[in-house]
Amino acid sequence: MRAVRLTVWGEPPVPADVERPVPHGAQVLVRVEATGLCHSDLHVIDAAPGVLPYRLPFTLGHEVAGRVAALGPDADGVDVDEPVVLYGPWGCGACGRCAAGWDNYCDRRDTLPWHGAGLGRDGGMADYVVVPSARQLVSADGLTAEQAAPLSDAGLTSYHAVSGLRHTLGEGATAVVIGIGGLGHLAVQILRATTACRVLAVDVREEALALAERSGADFGTLLRADTARVLRTRGGGAGADAVLDFVGTTDTLALATGVLRPGGELAVVGSGGGSLTVTKPGVLPPGFRLSLPFWGPRPQLAEVVALARSGALHVETERFPLSAAPEAIDRLRRGRVRGRAVLVPD
Ligand code: NAD
Ligand code: ZN
Ligand code: ZN
Repeated sequence: MRAVRLTVWGEPPVPADVERPVPHGAQVLVRVEATGLCHSDLHVIDAAPGVLPYRLPFTLGHEVAGRVAALGPDADGVDVDEPVVLYGPWGCGACGRCAAGWDNYCDRRDTLPWHGAGLGRDGGMADYVVVPSARQLVSADGLTAEQAAPLSDAGLTSYHAVSGLRHTLGEGATAVVIGIGGLGHLAVQILRATTACRVLAVDVREEALALAERSGADFGTLLRADTARVLRTRGGGAGADAVLDFVGTTDTLALATGVLRPGGELAVVGSGGGSLTVTKPGVLPPGFRLSLPFWGPRPQLAEVVALARSGALHVETERFPLSAAPEAIDRLRRGRVRGRAVLVPD
């Protein structure tokens, strides 16, 4: 079967022909129908040797939807041909967090040479992918694979981040979303569907602001020197109750803390490598709270899939054949993808 493999750190992934895996034990083989391309794939491809704990080579692709193709001898809980979306963060499978479906915060994460499917373990940029057990699958019945695949990360991560802030986002509250790409445009829709707050969007591309508007944002603006002031005015003057930063550079973190009202909360999702200095007393708003959400728990994947099935979420996708993965990666790198690039086996 074909697979897009990372073989050397810092070099582009290579298309390869590999053996189709055979599911052993409780494993399940999934025939891939769509795999989202995440900005994190670029961070992985570009990583210097030793930065990530993964062993090379492995197949990329951590946002995957498809159909169950075969079950290992001890597998149960899914049927052949069932449409599924992968729960991608694979933990140790044995600790309390993993037992509760919170593999994203596995207690043994520091000791594992992977973070999940396509992140140190063979993922979904291939014709087939094997998952450790049916526990890593959620039914995608009622959704196309192209819509379902991005839910496994762009959808789940945004949903998990919003879940942590929802208590601050009642009627009259304001949320600011920075970075309206694959994750950000779904965050705007999730805020719209699950909270009563006003949603303000920030990006560096006009095209992304148009996507924010289509996703239900009340207002969008380019990142400029006076953006914090503009957002405060649009948010009713007091400042934002919550900021979701899907970029995570020093300039976006400064914007986030500059726009929050006292008691405001910041969720940093983007892996932009920026830093924020905490001093007390200092310039951060009093009562400021910070979270660093990583992916999300399995129960929330089922919730975000249900939300999509209800019609409240629409992933804006650009489709590429799997054989064009290098072009898709190049377009994402140049900021040319609208919404999510999705690779479809050809
Ligand atoms: P994307 O490339 O699809 O979208 C990023 C968006 O941010 C683009 O619209 C871009 O124009 C915009 N942007 C870039 N610089 C900006 C700036 N300075 N100010 C405002 N907007 C700016 O990326 P994505 O796939 O949505 O991922 C977003 C980030 O989240 C990446 O860093 C990715 O690695 C990270 N991520 C984290 C998790 C997690 O679990 N924490 C999960 C998935 C992705
Ligand atoms: Zn991702
Ligand atoms: Zn664990």
